[in-house]
Amino acid sequence: MLSEEVQDSSEICPACDEDNSRRLPRYGKVYGRYVCRKCYFGFANRRQFAYLIDVILLVILRSLVDWTRGIGFWEIEPFNLQSALISLAMTLLLLIKDGFNGHSPGKALLGVLVLDDRTGEPAGFWASFKRNLPLLIPLVWIVVAFQLVKGHRWGDKWSHTKVVWKKYKDKPPFAG
Ligand SMILES: [Zn+2]
Repeated sequence: MLSEEVQDSSEICPACDEDNSRRLPRYGKVYGRYVCRKCYFGFANRRQFAYLIDVILLVILRSLVDWTRGIGFWEIEPFNLQSALISLAMTLLLLIKDGFNGHSPGKALLGVLVLDDRTGEPAGFWASFKRNLPLLIPLVWIVVAFQLVKGHRWGDKWSHTKVVWKKYKDKPPFAG
């Protein structure tokens, strides 16, 4: 007689259609559906690395801007106002980064995409702005890094967004 667990483990992964042998136990859910171990960690790691890439790009951009300030490229006076405006622009970039047809540079590289949960269309700049607001709170990115493993993270619900793995975007648990 088959136990419930054995029957459950006979299902295939809804995302990659691969077999059962590497399915996670109960906690391995993305958007409420069990997926295989490869998909579970593959999706989470893609999102985490995408964020890392975006932050690194912003740091590089900031360094470049500071370099142009060093050679007197910016005419804005006083210097403090210049600093404030540049910081504001950097913050704005962090907030709207997922609005490029649902992609930030990191997400584009890692093959993930932000969609509007209601329409299935790629997120725009306003949705990106809203979903990334929590990241401005110090250290929240650490919480988010763990939350995103399950699917939604802080900021997704009220901006009606979800991140999907492009390769499997038409399949559960990413579609619908
Ligand atoms: Zn899978």
